[in-house]
Amino acid sequence: MRPLTTVFSLVVSIALMTNASAADRPNILFIFSDDHAPHAIGAYNGWLKPVNPTPNIDKLAGEGMLFVNSFCTNSICGPSRAVIQTGKHSHKNGFMNNGNSFDWDQQTFPKLLQKAGYQTAIYGKSHLKGQPQGYDDWAVLPGQGLYYNPDMITPKGKLTIEGYCTDIVTDMAVDFLKEDRDEGKPFMLMVQHKAPHRNWMPALRHLHLYDDVEIPEPATLFDDYADNAPPARHQELEIDRHMHINYDLFLDLTPELEELPVSTDKSAWRNMQRMTPEQLKTWRAAYGPKDKAFHEAKLTGKDLVRWKYQRYAKNYLRSVKGVDESVETLVNTLEELGLSDNTIVIYSSDQGFYIGDHGWYDKRWMYEESLKMPFIVKWPGVTKPGSKSWKLVQNLDYAETFLEIAGAAIPDDMQGLSVVPLLKGEKPDDWRKSIYYHYYEYPSVHMVPRHNGVRNFRYKIMHFYEFDEWEFYDLKEDPGELTNLYYNSEYANQIKRMKRELEKLRKQYEDDSDMREKSQEWQDKVRPMASK
Ligand code: CA
Repeated sequence: MRPLTTVFSLVVSIALMTNASAADRPNILFIFSDDHAPHAIGAYNGWLKPVNPTPNIDKLAGEGMLFVNSFCTNSICGPSRAVIQTGKHSHKNGFMNNGNSFDWDQQTFPKLLQKAGYQTAIYGKSHLKGQPQGYDDWAVLPGQGLYYNPDMITPKGKLTIEGYCTDIVTDMAVDFLKEDRDEGKPFMLMVQHKAPHRNWMPALRHLHLYDDVEIPEPATLFDDYADNAPPARHQELEIDRHMHINYDLFLDLTPELEELPVSTDKSAWRNMQRMTPEQLKTWRAAYGPKDKAFHEAKLTGKDLVRWKYQRYAKNYLRSVKGVDESVETLVNTLEELGLSDNTIVIYSSDQGFYIGDHGWYDKRWMYEESLKMPFIVKWPGVTKPGSKSWKLVQNLDYAETFLEIAGAAIPDDMQGLSVVPLLKGEKPDDWRKSIYYHYYEYPSVHMVPRHNGVRNFRYKIMHFYEFDEWEFYDLKEDPGELTNLYYNSEYANQIKRMKRELEKLRKQYEDDSDMREKSQEWQDKVRPMASK
């Protein structure tokens, strides 16, 4: 399904392409981070705005278009990236959860851009396993990668690079722009940061940022999930019960490894033992006094949760600060090289995240905070500066968007919609009215059950189908999703309509994945939990 306007502009683009040399087509700088929730970006006006860590991303929004209703199709790292590569839902591209491996032999948008004459490169986190295809140059972190002195896999083999990951990835991108660019071709450069992914390690220069600031608390920090279907009570992603004080918050990890008490979870040391003695000294000087103050305070109950939240939110926002500085460096580099006017700059992240919202960290759910992803596009001379789009867009749309920008043909088997008409300020009235979502990784870390669902401008329905549990929200009346209305008879008609829409989209996207026979693991482990 593709709006006529898109087909029309595609025809126009192809017509233009025949008259323009490849070098006249815009470059694409696609900056992409990991787990950066829109409400941790000032321009999105969330409740973290008072401590806004993103003046440079905000500036980009001020010069381009911000998508208010931007959503992922499956709120987890690898699958989100696979959807972007292919323009296809998880069940079509085969990367449904982080345990899968991406089939690099399949059709991807970077390969198609290469065919269309673009020079392509990716630096940073790939999270798709295997050797990337479709790039003229690449350097990727193995797996999740490390914040300090990370290994990077390159076409020439594995390198270990001293420094802070966000800065290293930025430097690689700057080197590409300055040294490795083929001036006869437009480029598509993907800068994929590890930050602000768990466990949140800021750059040394940001370790004292927010030391004297009280981060605002989300309204739902102490959500009791009373109105939710059972899955929300059986999860394992609460700051209170599941966030680990050593692994996630680095408490008491300042002594030498052999001096740590037996009871300490030392797994975070895998990251810290990578540090040089100088790096470690700065780290210890920052966290040592904070740890001492924590022990003296002897916190319990809600006070302890509040302390954990502050430590977590500060490290998360400090990690975001590093990403924001990367955006500044990259934008300045374009300016310095005279590339600003013909380069589209995009900022996005693979999904949203809970920053204490509902008492949680992590992602996975179809609730708003992790369903939403930032999407900001500056296209000089095309996007109206400081504009906003309220149309429903998804990471499913990126591949087709990039192809249309490049004037390349969009394959019929891609499932998204090019947002180029929206970027041009057009208001296609046949744009999608609802989005489809499907999350699969269960049973697994954090124990968020499989679910699919549909969201439109006002309502959301979620189906935890392995347990046949449903939730329904009226987002206009209840934006915090605190009241599950599934059993409220006043909403019976809307619920019926949303169920029909879920079935319609499931068929439209040819998703029969929830109909597959349940595994033996499901029979043995999951089903008994449903009755709890
Ligand atoms: Ca992620």
